[in-house]
Amino acid sequence: MIPASAYAAFDSNSPLKYWDFERRDLRPDDVEIDVEFCGVCHSDLHAAKGEWGDVNRPFVPGHEIVGKVKAVGPGVTKYKVGDTVGVGCMVDSCLHCADCDDGLEQYCTHGMVGTYMGMETGTGKPTYGGYSSKIVVKEHFVLKIPEGLDPAGAAPLLCAGITTYSPLRHWKVGPGQRVGIVGLGGLGHMGVKLAKAMGARVAVFTTSPSKVEDAKRLGADEVIISKDADAMAAEARSFDFILNTVAASHNLDPFIGALKRDGTMTLVGAPSEPHPSPGVMGMIFGRKSLAGSLIGGIAETQEMLDFCGKHGITADIELIPIQEINTAYARMLKSDVKYRFVIDIGTLSKG
Ligand code: NAP
Ligand code: ZN
Repeated sequence: MIPASAYAAFDSNSPLKYWDFERRDLRPDDVEIDVEFCGVCHSDLHAAKGEWGDVNRPFVPGHEIVGKVKAVGPGVTKYKVGDTVGVGCMVDSCLHCADCDDGLEQYCTHGMVGTYMGMETGTGKPTYGGYSSKIVVKEHFVLKIPEGLDPAGAAPLLCAGITTYSPLRHWKVGPGQRVGIVGLGGLGHMGVKLAKAMGARVAVFTTSPSKVEDAKRLGADEVIISKDADAMAAEARSFDFILNTVAASHNLDPFIGALKRDGTMTLVGAPSEPHPSPGVMGMIFGRKSLAGSLIGGIAETQEMLDFCGKHGITADIELIPIQEINTAYARMLKSDVKYRFVIDIGTLSKG
């Protein structure tokens, strides 16, 4: 076994703290990665606090991982020692069902194995995420980080990037369309950058008037304060597509009202409490769709990374030592994220 260290949640209420543990020995198709940076996703917080159900404890969050290849198994062909690589939200899937064959491992018929909250194939042991010094991952689930992208700023692409890129591509966002991004946090700010790079006209819906200037700096053409009922009513029937990243239960009706005929709102935010049901009338008058989307497949994640490499897109980050993770969680709960915390994993050595 390979010794590793991490920050872990020992129960749903206490602050995360230092923990020594072990990673598996390399299988033939495994890559051992020295983790350098790990983004802090709101999903980490939902999971650590038990908001999505029970998790194995100690629980190690983190699925926006960038680091350097330390060693490879004898069957590995795509990576060599020293490469800068990434790992996102999945570390395994069956790789032979119809969904995996379509490159959509996140929807694997038999269930993908999460980077955390998963069960390791073969051993049935819990998976541990990227708030850790090392990770061992099957080659298929390792991504190449394009040269020229800052590795710390690239880390959030592995979840926030692909979670917004995939639905923007699936619903064919592009020039001539008006696209709304709801919630300017980690996912939302990536959604703005990506939708803009795809050529759409982008509006941000935010509950935080303090974020208006930032939204424009990030590329938004317009900003709408979503708590302002008059401002929302003025947007009726004007959006082709809306991507909703909000991490809390809220009323969806004003956003459905803002869709044009045949428009779609896709939910990627995953709050623990359900949203109040949208009104049927708002859906049928205008043939509108409400959809959901989960991260993205491995091939599409590499496509997104290459797209970001080409367009020079990374996240706007606050780099923090791991000892500040609990403060970062508290700020995330107050929507005070500018616009993704990234942990400098080098600070783990200080305990
Ligand atoms: P985040 O950085 O905390 O951003 C969420 C944003 O939602 C906030 O910045 C805020 O933006 C808005 N918001 C409005 N009301 C809120 C409230 N009461 N509490 C919290 N946020 C509120 O979170 P994130 O990392 O972007 O993640 C967003 C959600 O997506 C989470 O539920 C996460 O679990 C989920 N997620 C889903 C997938 C997937 O595959 N579907 C992948 C990753 C994450 P304003 O201040 O602009 O209103
Ligand atoms: Zn995430």
